[in-house]
Amino acid sequence: MNLSPHFTLEEMIKSQAGDRAGIDNMPSAAHREALRALCVHVLEPIRERFGPVMVTSGYRCVALNRSMGGAPNSQHMDGEAADIEVPGMANADLARWIEAHLEYDQLILECYKAGIPSSGWVHVSYKAHTPNRKQELTATVVKGKMAYTPGIAK
Ligand SMILES: [Zn+2]
Repeated sequence: MNLSPHFTLEEMIKSQAGDRAGIDNMPSAAHREALRALCVHVLEPIRERFGPVMVTSGYRCVALNRSMGGAPNSQHMDGEAADIEVPGMANADLARWIEAHLEYDQLILECYKAGIPSSGWVHVSYKAHTPNRKQELTATVVKGKMAYTPGIAK
Protein backbone atom coordinates (compact mmCIF):
# COMPACT_ATOMS: atom_id res chain seq x y z
CA MET A 1 0.00 0.00 0.00
CA ASN A 2 1.50 3.30 -1.11
CA LEU A 3 1.37 6.29 1.23
CA SER A 4 2.96 8.56 -1.37
CA PRO A 5 4.47 7.96 -4.85
CA HIS A 6 7.71 6.43 -3.52
CA PHE A 7 6.92 5.29 0.03
CA THR A 8 4.86 2.33 1.17
CA LEU A 9 3.06 1.63 4.42
CA GLU A 10 5.13 -1.56 4.67
CA GLU A 11 8.46 0.28 4.82
CA MET A 12 7.09 2.80 7.32
CA ILE A 13 6.01 0.08 9.77
CA LYS A 14 8.78 -2.48 9.20
CA SER A 15 10.89 -3.18 12.26
CA GLN A 16 13.47 -5.90 12.69
CA ALA A 17 13.36 -5.31 16.44
CA GLY A 18 9.57 -5.69 16.37
CA ASP A 19 9.74 -8.84 14.27
CA ARG A 20 12.28 -10.30 16.67
CA ALA A 21 10.08 -9.48 19.67
CA GLY A 22 6.93 -10.76 17.96
CA ILE A 23 5.22 -7.37 18.12
CA ASP A 24 2.39 -6.65 15.67
CA ASN A 25 3.29 -3.08 14.69
CA MET A 26 0.05 -1.92 13.03
CA PRO A 27 -0.91 1.77 12.98
CA SER A 28 -4.44 3.08 13.39
CA ALA A 29 -6.09 4.95 10.52
CA ALA A 30 -5.13 8.25 12.15
CA HIS A 31 -1.51 7.14 12.50
CA ARG A 32 -1.49 6.05 8.84
CA GLU A 33 -2.62 9.52 7.86
CA ALA A 34 0.18 11.03 9.93
CA LEU A 35 2.66 8.73 8.17
CA ARG A 36 1.26 9.80 4.81
CA ALA A 37 1.79 13.49 5.67
CA LEU A 38 5.37 12.74 6.75
CA CYS A 39 6.02 10.92 3.45
CA VAL A 40 4.45 13.64 1.29
CA HIS A 41 5.95 16.68 3.00
CA VAL A 42 9.36 15.41 4.13
CA LEU A 43 10.44 12.10 2.59
CA GLU A 44 9.29 12.75 -1.00
CA PRO A 45 11.18 16.07 -1.32
CA ILE A 46 14.34 14.35 0.01
CA ARG A 47 13.91 11.52 -2.49
CA GLU A 48 13.32 13.96 -5.33
CA ARG A 49 16.59 15.76 -4.51
CA PHE A 50 18.87 12.85 -3.54
CA GLY A 51 17.32 9.55 -4.68
CA PRO A 52 16.22 6.59 -2.56
CA VAL A 53 15.76 7.21 1.16
CA MET A 54 16.34 4.40 3.64
CA VAL A 55 13.79 4.37 6.48
CA THR A 56 15.38 2.56 9.43
CA SER A 57 12.46 3.20 11.81
CA GLY A 58 9.09 4.77 11.08
CA TYR A 59 5.91 3.99 13.01
CA ARG A 60 6.31 2.28 16.39
CA CYS A 61 3.36 1.04 18.40
CA VAL A 62 3.65 1.61 22.16
CA ALA A 63 4.96 -1.91 22.79
CA LEU A 64 7.60 -1.64 20.08
CA ASN A 65 8.74 1.80 21.22
CA ARG A 66 9.07 0.53 24.77
CA SER A 67 10.97 -2.59 23.68
CA MET A 68 13.41 -0.39 21.72
CA GLY A 69 13.98 1.97 24.64
CA GLY A 70 12.41 4.88 22.74
CA ALA A 71 11.50 8.13 24.47
CA PRO A 72 8.16 7.74 26.33
CA ASN A 73 6.67 10.62 24.29
CA SER A 74 8.29 9.58 20.99
CA GLN A 75 6.62 10.93 17.87
CA HIS A 76 7.32 7.55 16.26
CA MET A 77 4.26 6.31 18.23
CA ASP A 78 2.07 8.93 16.52
CA GLY A 79 3.27 8.12 13.01
CA GLU A 80 4.82 11.57 12.88
CA ALA A 81 8.51 10.61 12.86
CA ALA A 82 11.00 8.56 10.89
CA ASP A 83 14.68 7.73 11.25
CA ILE A 84 16.27 7.99 7.82
CA GLU A 85 19.50 7.90 5.85
CA VAL A 86 20.38 8.55 2.23
CA PRO A 87 22.95 5.96 1.12
CA GLY A 88 26.28 7.58 0.30
CA MET A 89 25.40 10.89 1.94
CA ALA A 90 26.76 12.13 5.27
CA ASN A 91 23.93 12.25 7.79
CA ALA A 92 25.07 15.70 8.94
CA ASP A 93 24.71 16.97 5.35
CA LEU A 94 21.25 15.42 5.10
CA ALA A 95 20.16 17.09 8.35
CA ARG A 96 21.46 20.46 7.19
CA TRP A 97 19.69 20.14 3.82
CA ILE A 98 16.39 19.36 5.57
CA GLU A 99 16.94 22.29 7.94
CA ALA A 100 17.45 24.65 5.00
CA HIS A 101 14.70 23.42 2.68
CA LEU A 102 11.82 21.65 4.40
CA GLU A 103 9.01 22.20 6.87
CA TYR A 104 9.36 19.85 9.86
CA ASP A 105 8.47 19.67 13.52
CA GLN A 106 11.67 18.24 14.99
CA LEU A 107 14.95 17.43 13.29
CA ILE A 108 17.59 15.49 15.21
CA LEU A 109 21.04 14.45 14.03
CA GLU A 110 21.52 11.30 16.11
CA CYS A 111 24.74 9.53 17.05
CA TYR A 112 26.74 11.23 14.30
CA LYS A 113 30.54 11.15 14.56
CA ALA A 114 32.40 13.86 12.69
CA GLY A 115 34.60 12.35 10.01
CA ILE A 116 32.46 9.21 9.67
CA PRO A 117 29.80 10.22 7.08
CA SER A 118 27.62 7.12 7.44
CA SER A 119 27.57 7.21 11.25
CA GLY A 120 24.29 7.84 13.04
CA TRP A 121 21.00 8.75 11.37
CA VAL A 122 18.54 11.61 10.97
CA HIS A 123 15.30 11.68 12.98
CA VAL A 124 12.69 13.95 11.43
CA SER A 125 9.05 14.56 12.35
CA TYR A 126 6.14 16.41 10.80
CA LYS A 127 2.79 17.52 12.23
CA ALA A 128 -0.09 17.74 9.79
CA HIS A 129 -2.66 19.39 12.04
CA THR A 130 -0.78 21.60 14.49
CA PRO A 131 2.04 24.08 13.88
CA ASN A 132 5.48 22.58 13.32
CA ARG A 133 8.02 23.70 15.92
CA LYS A 134 11.05 23.78 13.58
CA GLN A 135 13.28 22.49 16.38
CA GLU A 136 16.81 21.26 15.59
CA LEU A 137 18.87 19.10 17.93
CA THR A 138 21.99 16.98 17.94
CA ALA A 139 21.90 13.82 20.04
CA THR A 140 24.95 11.96 21.28
CA VAL A 141 25.30 9.10 23.70
CA VAL A 142 26.86 10.22 26.96
CA LYS A 143 27.38 7.57 29.65
CA GLY A 144 24.86 5.27 28.01
CA LYS A 145 22.13 7.92 27.71
CA MET A 146 21.06 10.20 24.86
CA ALA A 147 22.14 13.79 25.49
CA TYR A 148 20.59 16.56 23.36
CA THR A 149 22.14 19.87 22.39
CA PRO A 150 20.47 22.64 20.36
CA GLY A 151 21.22 22.96 16.66
CA ILE A 152 22.69 20.61 14.06
CA ALA A 153 26.37 19.91 14.85
CA LYS A 154 28.93 20.86 12.22
ZN1 LIG B 1 13.66 8.63 15.68
